[in-house]
Amino acid sequence: GDIADRLGRSVEGLTDAVGDRFGEPTLRLGVTGLSRAGKTVFITALVANLMDRGRMTQLAAAADGRIEAAFLQPQPDDTLPRFDFERHLATLTADTPAWPESTRAISELRLSLRIRPTGLLAGFQGARTLHLDIVDYPGEWLLDLALLDKSFADWSRETLARLEHRDIAADYLARAAAEDSSAELEEVRARDLAESYTAYLEAARNAGFSDCTPGRFLLPGDLAGSPVLTFAPLPPAEGAGRRSLWREFERRFEAYKARVVKPFFRDHFARIDRQVVLVDALGAIHKGPGAVEDLRRTMADILTAFRPGRNAFLSQILMGKRVEKILFAATKADHLHHLQHPQLAALMKAMMREAADRAAFAGAETRAMAIAALRATVEETRQHHGEELPCVRGTLADSGRSAAFYPGDLPQDPQRLLGPARDGAERWLDADYGIMTFAPAKLSLRPGEGPPHIRLDRAAQFLIGDRL
Ligand code: GDP
Repeated sequence: GDIADRLGRSVEGLTDAVGDRFGEPTLRLGVTGLSRAGKTVFITALVANLMDRGRMTQLAAAADGRIEAAFLQPQPDDTLPRFDFERHLATLTADTPAWPESTRAISELRLSLRIRPTGLLAGFQGARTLHLDIVDYPGEWLLDLALLDKSFADWSRETLARLEHRDIAADYLARAAAEDSSAELEEVRARDLAESYTAYLEAARNAGFSDCTPGRFLLPGDLAGSPVLTFAPLPPAEGAGRRSLWREFERRFEAYKARVVKPFFRDHFARIDRQVVLVDALGAIHKGPGAVEDLRRTMADILTAFRPGRNAFLSQILMGKRVEKILFAATKADHLHHLQHPQLAALMKAMMREAADRAAFAGAETRAMAIAALRATVEETRQHHGEELPCVRGTLADSGRSAAFYPGDLPQDPQRLLGPARDGAERWLDADYGIMTFAPAKLSLRPGEGPPHIRLDRAAQFLIGDRL
């Protein structure tokens, strides 16, 4: 068991350090974020822009012309789904461009970069190759880390206490209360409970709540319908016997931890060198103070995964290995005129600072940014009642009409959104933001046109620039 695991990891660590089979260095870039944060669009745009580098001026190696080639190669992990880059790019660049299908589970893509050496000996050395292995996985899965420290009884108690305050949980709470959980398990009732709880999780996510565990209930992949996903939180049951509903749910909860959560962290998470955490902060701001507060708490939970000292299991499998750089990126910044991007970046930074005290990230370099992987708008200044409004214009996804919006002002001080004073504060971005569902703009690399992204090149420079 454990010893073999650790041995396996140390051998793996060794080969990572030395390079892969052909002695060529690899860099594993993790891309995560909650559902709809923008992971799929980010990876597709990043890879497309690395392969066609005309619009990556802030990526030093690209600007200096040192990247001789960038090409896709078979990935190293034979059992992971491949990130469907070609299909996503085709959707984004079709005659009528559309957004690609979002991340549902983990996937991987290897982009290999051939780089011309720099320095004194540059003229005598051939190009070297760096394999960039991009690993896409749902941020919801990171929330499951906290489950490892919890018993079924603890998790049930905490979850049910949270549900008490939410109308959308009424159906599940009624069912759970009506259940005699010390009675013998009946599979049909177990499934009903799990389905009702999953329906609650879906409603909670749609309402903007992000504290939705177990993470795989929302994104089950090929585990859908298996016993390991067929449980739900239950009120305490005194003296529940071995074959009772309570004991069986407890057993499945433990199986979920051992068979689903731990393997993900051990086989995938622990091998990541660089990480980008994407956050749809604008979406939360639009939904109101409750959603912002929830996002802040959820980000704090997610970030505990990057503070291995807090979790014994994680410390053990990492054996001192660390993520070297973490980028926190607020996505979809093209919904705002650039005059407001500093406010968005400041919010990101404040959220990240609160989520993790400085010592906790020691060893990892962190940065906060506002980005748009795929810019769907252009900027425009419009007169309104004698005032100049900094607007963005894009094509509305449903009607195909072009429209300009001014979604409102973000506060200069992020604490107005995050701090205790936010109660009773105005809702930011309420009026127009909700209808700003733009279709992706046609990718165009024609000279003279602005880059098809916002700060994607800076993000790449921070994440991989030092290795190019
Ligand atoms: P995922 O669930 O994290 O994979 O999220 P996606 O990458 O599928 O993005 C979810 C949705 O957010 C997309 O369908 C788009 O509507 C929107 N989106 C993502 N990135 C951008 C962006 O850079 N600009 C704009 N305007 N919308 C974006």
